[in-house]
Amino acid sequence: MTEPTTPRIDTRLIHHAYQPPGGFESVLPPVHKASTVLFPDMAAVRARRWEDKSSYTYGLHGTPTTYLLEERLATLEGAHHCLLAPSGLAALTTVALALLEQGDEVLFPENVYGPNRAFTRGLLARHGVRSACYDPLDAADLAGRISAATRLVWLEAPGSVTMEFPDLAGLVRACRARGVTTALDNTWGAGLAFAPFDLLRDGHLGVDVSVHALTKYPSGGGHVLMGSITTRDAALHERLQRGHMQLGLGVGANDAEALLQALPSLRLRYQAQDVAARALAQWLATQPAVAQVLHPALPGAPGHAHWQALCGETHGGSGLAAGLFSVVIDARFTGAEVDAFCDALRLFRLGYSWGGPMSLVMSYDVRAMRDAAPAHLAPGTVVRLAVGLEDVQDLRADLAQAMHSAFGL
Ligand SMILES: *Cc1c(COP(=O)(O)O)cnc(C)c1O
Repeated sequence: MTEPTTPRIDTRLIHHAYQPPGGFESVLPPVHKASTVLFPDMAAVRARRWEDKSSYTYGLHGTPTTYLLEERLATLEGAHHCLLAPSGLAALTTVALALLEQGDEVLFPENVYGPNRAFTRGLLARHGVRSACYDPLDAADLAGRISAATRLVWLEAPGSVTMEFPDLAGLVRACRARGVTTALDNTWGAGLAFAPFDLLRDGHLGVDVSVHALTKYPSGGGHVLMGSITTRDAALHERLQRGHMQLGLGVGANDAEALLQALPSLRLRYQAQDVAARALAQWLATQPAVAQVLHPALPGAPGHAHWQALCGETHGGSGLAAGLFSVVIDARFTGAEVDAFCDALRLFRLGYSWGGPMSLVMSYDVRAMRDAAPAHLAPGTVVRLAVGLEDVQDLRADLAQAMHSAFGL
């Protein structure tokens, strides 16, 4: 018989009896960190389920912090289920990997988010999934491209960089008619500009999957990378959840905490950046160096009528749009002069992403990003502006001084 001994200090610091009282409540929910989750007994090991969020089994499969964030994001998008991924791109690729197999075909809009196109034509093609792109401004073009092998259609409203706003309801209808699953990259709409699962506001038409780069507006700080995959359909969620689990995707507790901190101000930030961006877009439209302004809420922009129909009635009739738009700098200015304009900006800093406090600028070579040059774009160089939370008059003065310095205007 061995005598029970008092455990030594190392052991006592790990196996400690004190439990703080329950009932603590604060504004910011607690941040739970874990790989290992402890079980009281083997019966609990066998009974616990993470799939339906009724309990906890392993950190990768969810903690109170990630469950909470998932539920709030599902509410934001008008969905019933949510999965978190370590980036927006990881959320996009997870949807494709979970839903597609060898021999299947996926369709994407010509103005799709560039890295999604690269993944579809790269890794996904190497695994035997074919792809083709469609004209997002023509639902009949999409309908004509759906084949017996088409299993997934990507949607984006508006498209990345060139900002064409599609007839989302028309595109979804074309897919529904053929029983094809639709997945929307809803980063721009952010769950605020329109309801992705209720496009006609009568509960009858919506996308099947919404993907959101939380990196942008929901994080709001330019400091967190994360993505979400939301759905209403339980069976579809299960397929996505299985793929997500097998890929081993998870998010850090501190990043989830940052999202939980930023979500309460999401709508205020989105709206403030919208107001500022529209003021700047309207002013830029009057500037001689600017050949075209690509902002879906501005009359004359590609797909403006579709934006008006889908988003125009929200927010007391003025509609909502992200604080992101592009301008085409007139073709009489060289690429080097457009670079000089970007370099001359002091408040708009050079960098990718958007939705944070700092305004950003980036020049794009649209011809290199597309299979065909879009006919609705004026000749010239596309420069994208992401409007932050700085004072809008300071931002306008910054654009004016940079145009004067680079273009002599
Ligand atoms: C940024 C972005 C993504 C990807 O998000 P990351 O977190 O940077 O991977 C996907 N789609 C759109 C439209 C984006 O703007």
